[in-house]
Amino acid sequence: MKSVRLGKTGILVSELGFGGIPITRLDFNEAVSLVGYCFDQGITFFDTANAYGDSEPKIGSALQDLRDQVTLATKTLVRDAAGAMRQVEKSLERLRTDHIDLYQLHNISNQEALDKVLDSGGAYEALVQARDEGKIGHLGFSSHNLDIAVRACRTGLFATVQIPFNLIEQDPAEKLLPVARQHDMGVIAMKPLGGGLLNRADLCFGFLQQYDDVVPIPGMESRREVEQNLQYYSAPRALSQQDWTETEKIRSEVGARFCHRCQYCQPCPEGVEIWRVLLFKAQAKRFPPEMAIKMGMEPMKMAENCVQCGECEAKCPYELPVPDLINESLDHYRQFCEQHGQ
Ligand code: SF4
Ligand code: SF4
Repeated sequence: MKSVRLGKTGILVSELGFGGIPITRLDFNEAVSLVGYCFDQGITFFDTANAYGDSEPKIGSALQDLRDQVTLATKTLVRDAAGAMRQVEKSLERLRTDHIDLYQLHNISNQEALDKVLDSGGAYEALVQARDEGKIGHLGFSSHNLDIAVRACRTGLFATVQIPFNLIEQDPAEKLLPVARQHDMGVIAMKPLGGGLLNRADLCFGFLQQYDDVVPIPGMESRREVEQNLQYYSAPRALSQQDWTETEKIRSEVGARFCHRCQYCQPCPEGVEIWRVLLFKAQAKRFPPEMAIKMGMEPMKMAENCVQCGECEAKCPYELPVPDLINESLDHYRQFCEQHGQ
């Protein structure tokens, strides 16, 4: 497999990386075996997060003897320095390593989060200290909000940016890539298959292969999925006119109800965290049921306060029918809980 330079980190990683969410659905040994299989097939870039259940220990266990041949990336949702440093230590232990190549601030998707991590006493400070101490190699961030991501790139403080980039979320090409390139940042495409909502992997990867400095990190939970995804990299192809027509069709069909988690609709006067409510469908597909239910509990409780005022719908740049989607997601959550006996 070809290698891609991950921006100014200078690290060469496999052009297809590994996203660490779906292995949380596998038992420990299965997950370890799958991660090892990915390495055997040429994948050398593994991305996970503190927040992804037991993903870190599974990846750590699978790769501990291959440590010098792989690039490990993880992230923390913690915003303060002391807490972030504790998370770094925890990640080191769980990943069974003495250094993490890339440590990212997770989900910097609004100004408040960006300010918090960069303020004195914020998480950024701890990551710089961890880098100085050799515990981490480089600092990056992930975001679902393009404006905030561009702002964070422009600070010049980060070596990488991780953003959803796929058939139905194409805006990073125009809005983010030029800025990231200007700052020589590595660009990591999360959710290259729309978080499991897009099933035309040929079109999804064909679309992303136009950007040869972008590293997609699909989540994979079986050897079959690994093989299928790799197949698009062993024989890459440019999208034909017919493919582009198909792409536009998918974009308009799926995109009409697809939440980009960008948070432009916030705040809600009733305190509903809209993106977290709308995220449940994807979480239910990608996490173990009990974990998905736990993740949905708090946002769904708040969603019950929704008075259908429509303020969020007016603010959504994608013109989504947000109150309807909230109701739909609440119903789905209730049914899912019943189905799994909770
Ligand atoms: S419709 Fe519901 S979620 Fe949207 S702003 Fe109004 S109360 Fe909040
Ligand atoms: S509902 Fe619209 S504005 Fe709100 S997070 Fe989703 S895509 Fe963004």
